[in-house]
Amino acid sequence: MIPFLDLKSINLQHKEALKQAFERVLESGWYIGGKEVDSFEKAFGDYCGVAYCTGVANGLEALTLIFRAYKELGVMQEEDEVIVPANTYIASILAISENNLVPVLVEPDIQTYNIDPAKIEEKITSKTKAIMAVHLYGQCADMEAIHMIAQKFNLKVIEDGAQAHGALFKGKRVGSLGDVAGFSFYPGKNLGALGDGGAVTTDDAQLFEVISTLKNYGSAQKYYNRYKGMNSRLDTLQAALLSVKLPFLDAQNQRRREIAVYYQKHIKNEKVLLPTVVYEPLSHVWHVYVVRVKDREDFIDYMKNLEIGVMVHYPLAPHQQEAYSEFSALSLPITEKIHREVVSLPISPVMTDEQVQKVVSCVNLYG
Ligand SMILES: *Cc1c(COP(=O)(O)O)cnc(C)c1O
Repeated sequence: MIPFLDLKSINLQHKEALKQAFERVLESGWYIGGKEVDSFEKAFGDYCGVAYCTGVANGLEALTLIFRAYKELGVMQEEDEVIVPANTYIASILAISENNLVPVLVEPDIQTYNIDPAKIEEKITSKTKAIMAVHLYGQCADMEAIHMIAQKFNLKVIEDGAQAHGALFKGKRVGSLGDVAGFSFYPGKNLGALGDGGAVTTDDAQLFEVISTLKNYGSAQKYYNRYKGMNSRLDTLQAALLSVKLPFLDAQNQRRREIAVYYQKHIKNEKVLLPTVVYEPLSHVWHVYVVRVKDREDFIDYMKNLEIGVMVHYPLAPHQQEAYSEFSALSLPITEKIHREVVSLPISPVMTDEQVQKVVSCVNLYG
């Protein structure tokens, strides 16, 4: 059996250090906020190359808080529009609609699966306030083209970095490529906690201050509340565990990249369409390795019979979800085609060469 993602093995690599971090938190008697959170925020902000980082409860709330803060600052108001790729994970879109802003769905590029910059301008109206750049599957979106449009129309650029911790676009890290970024540390992400977690990174001091306040009941000073905030803090324990794992992120991304390069080179099957890398190799951290197959169900059955874990990211596009019935009349043929055909092959820093070779030989024999 080759699991899709062996989370247990990934974390057991750090067993002793994680136990020590747990003990440190246990013994400290300090379980919310404090030094562990401060030092992880500093480390992750430095890693991303930004001045400010604030830990939050999860990736969805990282993104939700960004829009909420822009509303508090008067940069956005209800019913303003946000450009977002139509094929993103639904959380990107939930963060927009949760704030009573309007998600404007734009088709992706069929090669990269990231937003197609050529299709953004036609969707811009007087209400458009931001572009959400999602680095889907681990590959950087076309930040140059996105920034050109954002400058022309005076829009904020918000990164959804939940699938791309550590990816570099022309030498700069995801998290520092826009005005602000949201991250998730859900266990299965490239940098994963042992539970939920998230962060916001930015160079904008004022935005940072508002988000840090909003996530703590809207209070910057205990028992005095400036905003009707929420409770969305990064747990002290998760921060301590993440501090153990962060120094290994680059090496783990590099192992993912090695596996991806091997797949790119050795998978040869005309029924299986491989992903495309458009920028330098470091621009992709391979959160998932996504191929397209016309008869997806048949391919999935085939792989399952061979005991190879595969998954689908994602079976149904956001505009096809019951939750977004207001979008059900939209026609987004590229997005719909992607959701019909994508399959993710196993990729993870703990896969062995033998496992990688087995996946290749099985895929090559599919027919
Ligand atoms: C995982 C993910 C999120 C949400 O993160 P959670 O921590 O699960 O809330 C947001 N956007 C994208 C693209 C994701 O993959």
